[in-house]
Amino acid sequence: MVLKRRVLHQRLLIRGGTVVSMDPAIGILPQGDVLVAGDTIARVAPRIDAAEARVIDARNAIVSPGFVDTHRHVWQTQLRTSATDWSLFDYFCRMRSIFGSFYSPEDAYLGNYVGALEALHAGITTVVDHSHIMNSPEHADEAVRGLREAGIRGTFCYGLYPNPSYGASVAPSLDPGFRLADAKRVRARHFTSDDALLAFGLAPTEVTATPYATTCLEIALGRELGARHISCHVAMGAYDTGARLVARLGRDRLLGPDLVLVHGAALTEEELAMIADAGAAISSTPETELQMAMGHPVAVRADEKGAAASLGIDIVSNYSGDMFAQMRLLLQAQRGLENAALAAPPRRIRYRAEDVLRLATLGGARALGMDGRIGSLTPGKRADLVVTRCEAINLVPVHDPVGALVLNANAFNVDTVLVDGRFVKEGGELVGVDWPALAERLRRSAERIVTRSRAIPVAAIEEIAAPLMLR
Ligand SMILES: [Zn+2]
Repeated sequence: MVLKRRVLHQRLLIRGGTVVSMDPAIGILPQGDVLVAGDTIARVAPRIDAAEARVIDARNAIVSPGFVDTHRHVWQTQLRTSATDWSLFDYFCRMRSIFGSFYSPEDAYLGNYVGALEALHAGITTVVDHSHIMNSPEHADEAVRGLREAGIRGTFCYGLYPNPSYGASVAPSLDPGFRLADAKRVRARHFTSDDALLAFGLAPTEVTATPYATTCLEIALGRELGARHISCHVAMGAYDTGARLVARLGRDRLLGPDLVLVHGAALTEEELAMIADAGAAISSTPETELQMAMGHPVAVRADEKGAAASLGIDIVSNYSGDMFAQMRLLLQAQRGLENAALAAPPRRIRYRAEDVLRLATLGGARALGMDGRIGSLTPGKRADLVVTRCEAINLVPVHDPVGALVLNANAFNVDTVLVDGRFVKEGGELVGVDWPALAERLRRSAERIVTRSRAIPVAAIEEIAAPLMLR
């Protein structure tokens, strides 16, 4: 076990950086100071004199709020690069139906621990973990432990989806079995404090594959358990079944601010209006949606309709776990869509980098109902912040700090990350992590999963899945 060592400073002054606050009242300070007192942002101003505060020199650096990732299956960390050329059909057959079945509790722990560290390393301070790796109660305990030991803020959404257990047959089942009762156990055992960094949530069985009545019961269970978030994959472009789940939930008055509706490119205008009225969240994961025929990312359309739109990473089994790539992809995919529809060359570009940076920070916080606490550098909010050094060859010089974050920076430019006023990354290094040793454990875990998975013939799974998915 890697022992965590974090230092809580009473007063910390981040001095002389370019402050991209995301607070409309503060805006961007070309040179400014941020004072942190304990777990809270105390002041943001062009110059702060704070006696006895520890000072971090932020000259040639950008200070910004932590990113908010509203959808991620954190457990997939050790399957990195396995899904490079996969369709959603491949992903269902291989990841969800085979690899997921061969995770041990230790694998679930490592996936979640290292996955959360990877997020923090890239300046993501809040994550919604849609955790459909509940092969046993021990898997749930270990997945929670992984997030908690990493020190990330967020919601652990207990996944009800049953990964196949491969006894006598490979026939699929959608019965959550022990998970319904186990979600209650996990809620009671691991989530006793409302003030903790990590909150309890629920991820119903795939809502596009189960009967509507089942989905309603599972959402009701989440509400009975006081789930902060209920995470559902919906309206997935070419794979959309046309069941109009969101419209039905809206008509039955079951949409609410606790729902995080993921992907959603096939949502109708009527459904987006219902989502906006109900205060439910939309999480668009641009890279998955573009790769896996889920339609054009809905984030901008939803945002402009007044819905609480946000961004998610989704999976690192086929791409990087940072928000920089997702922001860039969304921005340029949106510009591409709009430019392709023009009859003549545009004098100006309509969609702006600052809009996508907002979705990745304050927009995510708003979508999760947490914008009173996080999402911007605002006095009184929790100190979740990122210092991005602009010293490396990809970030010298910087004429536009928003452009630097959205179109140029990467995770290795992130120098310092605070969550709730605690250092989780400092001087470019994760705090209290022996990375070479951890990397070796992760490699061994990956090897075990892949070896065990060879027992199941993919063709047999594909035969069962094709009539269900490729209609
Ligand atoms: Zn997902």
